Amino acid sequence: MIGLISATAAGAVARDRLAAAWPDRTRVYDGPVGGAVRAAFAECEQLVCFLATGAVVRLVAPLLSDKKTDPGVVCVDESGRFAVSLVGGHGGGANELAREVGELLGAEPVVTTATDSAGLAGLDTLGLPVEGDVAAVSRALLDGEPVALRAEVAWPLPPLPVAAEGSYTIRLTDRATDPAEHEVLLRPPSLVVGVGASRNAPVDEVLGLIEGSLWEAGLSPRSVAELATVDAKAGEPGIVEAAERLGVPLVTYSAEELAQVDVPNPSDAPLAAVGTPSVAEASALARGGELLVPKRKSAMATCAVVRRPGRGRLAVVGLGPGARDLLTPRAKAELRRASVLVGLDQYVDQIRDLLRPGTRILESGLGAEEERARTAVEEARKGHAVALIGSGDAGVYAMASPALAEAGADIDVVGVPGVTAALAAGAILGAPLGHDHVSISLSDLHTPWEVIERRVRAAAEADIVVTFYNPRSRGRDWQLPKALAILAEHREPTTPVGVVRNASRPDETSRLTTLAALDPATVDMMTVVTVGNTATREIAGRMVTPRGYRWQEEAR
Ligand code: SAH
Repeated sequence: MIGLISATAAGAVARDRLAAAWPDRTRVYDGPVGGAVRAAFAECEQLVCFLATGAVVRLVAPLLSDKKTDPGVVCVDESGRFAVSLVGGHGGGANELAREVGELLGAEPVVTTATDSAGLAGLDTLGLPVEGDVAAVSRALLDGEPVALRAEVAWPLPPLPVAAEGSYTIRLTDRATDPAEHEVLLRPPSLVVGVGASRNAPVDEVLGLIEGSLWEAGLSPRSVAELATVDAKAGEPGIVEAAERLGVPLVTYSAEELAQVDVPNPSDAPLAAVGTPSVAEASALARGGELLVPKRKSAMATCAVVRRPGRGRLAVVGLGPGARDLLTPRAKAELRRASVLVGLDQYVDQIRDLLRPGTRILESGLGAEEERARTAVEEARKGHAVALIGSGDAGVYAMASPALAEAGADIDVVGVPGVTAALAAGAILGAPLGHDHVSISLSDLHTPWEVIERRVRAAAEADIVVTFYNPRSRGRDWQLPKALAILAEHREPTTPVGVVRNASRPDETSRLTTLAALDPATVDMMTVVTVGNTATREIAGRMVTPRGYRWQEEAR
């Protein structure tokens, strides 16, 4: 619950906006602010105070006891310009809350916790359970002291500025060990526990069997990702409750599916009861992995433990045409999520300042496209979180297809769309894409000219607006005039043509001309050329393709 406290009329307005947006998460504390803050501090996990930071510091200072348990406190100033994370940035979630409140109220979030402000991922914000001396290791990371990462399990972690050796360590392990001095343990969700149970097996027995099996095998319960069983046991109270108490989801598989899984210890009892010779081992192994604990039994339950290989993550990220504010927030988040960045050097330059310290950058020059794609997939296969970047949309004449041609089912792939050049240019020119449109690349590097010409002809005959990508380079200068000549066979010489160079970049230029007047010498590889259809008009200096053709008929 988030307690909301305000003193002034302006504060109350902002407070009510939060309360209306989050009716189930917030509670308003009225009355004199001193009493309100004390009551909220005692009753809520978080506070948002629409008060001066000084006032809040004085009020909460006597109440503070431990940063692990104290509520997170955020202050919003009178004019609603800033949402300040004041206390409990990590443990109390105040940094995250400041961002959320900022988003909602249009206020700038102010976060001063060292790991956040330095762009490091806080060790307690990686989404993995963490044990040990988080404060000391975080400080070492910030101070640039050598911190070693020992990954016993492959897992797609965000970037961390780690060294090969160090007096501090971050250990990624599902083993049931205690952290050493100067060590932090991160618990990857790598274990799957398959469970079977007779009807009405008590939860204590099921849980006891699971915990006993993990303990004997030296595995941490905090690395359990899920319990798995057969569909017929999806509502078995002992299993459902065991999953709840472990705080993990219960996934189920059909008996037919489980019967296909190769297991070391099949038996007749489950075959008769639910139609598969194995429940515990088969459901633990259903998505692959290594069987660490073969079937163990108690009177009414069975269980088996599997370690799943960490799945790498490949994000294919479009950076947009150039301007920073045309880079989507999702693209930004993926760039900061990745520990390995693969891309063309000039695109890496475009976003280098956004990367977190410790990001491994694999940049290469023009060409080498296949190799970049292969590198990105190889790194993901090793279990890393990889971002493969491209300008505009990474799926448009870019890296997504060669990468996905290489990628197997053994990695997760996430695509982040970007503003492609045709759209960026369209917005600059006016509304040239108001009716059917097509993009055609004039590069005959990968495509025989006959194929390109056939497509240009088809677009010409079908009266479709065309955006030409890769229109002209030093060694490739006859293709654009040829393509325009084909379009001119079906369109008036006065048909509007938009030429946009470096859309949304500092040296952006754009020109509106016509099919007859276009000078190909003004076009290069930084340019897209958009040719209107027979209905496209220049209106007040803007290129406009109407939604239909009716106005043409009316004009006749
Ligand atoms: N993936 C990119 C396209 C790559 S092909 C995208 O979605 O935009 C490269 C061609 O795209 C260039 O030759 C040029 O024709 C066009 N292009 C890319 N960015 C551009 C920009 N900012 N302004 C104009 N044209 C651009």
